[in-house]
Amino acid sequence: MKKRRILQAGRLLPSLEARLAAEFDTTLLADQPDPASFLAAHGGEFEGFVTSAGVGYTAGTLATLTKLRVISSFGVGLDKLDLAAAKARGIAVGYTPDVLNDCVADLAMALMLDIGRRVSEADRFVRRGGWTTPGAKSFPLARKVSGAKLGIVGLGRIGQTIAKRATGFEMDIRYHSRRPVEGVVWRHEASLVELARWCDYLVVITAGGAGTRHLVNAEVLDALGPRGFLVNVARGSVIDEVALVRALAERRIAGAGLDVFENEPNVPRELFELDNVVLLPHIASGTEETRQAMADRVFDNLQGFFRDGRMVSPAPFP
Ligand code: NDP
Repeated sequence: MKKRRILQAGRLLPSLEARLAAEFDTTLLADQPDPASFLAAHGGEFEGFVTSAGVGYTAGTLATLTKLRVISSFGVGLDKLDLAAAKARGIAVGYTPDVLNDCVADLAMALMLDIGRRVSEADRFVRRGGWTTPGAKSFPLARKVSGAKLGIVGLGRIGQTIAKRATGFEMDIRYHSRRPVEGVVWRHEASLVELARWCDYLVVITAGGAGTRHLVNAEVLDALGPRGFLVNVARGSVIDEVALVRALAERRIAGAGLDVFENEPNVPRELFELDNVVLLPHIASGTEETRQAMADRVFDNLQGFFRDGRMVSPAPFP
């Protein structure tokens, strides 16, 4: 039987590429010298499209894929997937929720511990000889994480996983989202500004996209205040980055741990000079185990669709 033609937007884990190539006739769009001309000439040949949360797709790309029936995306973020355009064409979309909850929550905890306890800063202190320099000032005291007040912005799959971990650290937990979550013990705070004012650590784990753009603005940062820390493992767009850089530089907030940025991979240069911020290259789901589980889900979604029209995790259409 002739294999189905699948277009692959960018490079994926080698194990996933091998699995896809064994089952389908795959073509890598990123390998084409001129992807736009390639899509114009050959877009109509593909039944499936594999992309990722970071690359996504636009309505324009979709328009060239005239025979497309299914999209399978690597990642849980939907902000770069034009779901409305897929829905209008009756194209099914799959993504990879849940399998990454643990690792993203672990990294949120790691960032909280790092900025609170000054872990990265202390490492830099040792490496530059601060500990052994005679007469040098001792390393500054840090802040406690266990038992501190944690505000979670977005209590979805990952937010709830963070809350469970923080419970083990005996943190006092409240959260903000548009609607209170049923059946959880943590207190909902309707006002994000009030949550920021109350907490020691504000961890952002909402969806990205237009609905949450600059949700954390100068007013929220000022409410967090000079004793408050910010952690962002959601999307760079959720925070007003200009306001954040200013708040950090002027010490109007205590510090920040950031895995994501507004204009990735470009990180504001001003942040490189600051000791009260930890900067990561968008690695929250980046463990061998979780990336493999995500890869398996990308494949299973495609295979399930072609087998009986059912994906393991269909994306929620607007
Ligand atoms: P969920 O859909 O389960 O949860 C999203 C949460 O965001 C919900 O609680 C939702 O509540 C809340 N939310 C959405 N819009 C708003 C708003 N305008 N104001 C306040 N809260 C809002 O998603 P997941 O927990 O699975 O993932 C969350 C996000 O984490 C992903 O969308 C992705 O962008 C990011 N992520 C980042 C990773 C990284 O590598 N750094 C890795 C994986 C995910 P409500 O609808 O009631 O407002």
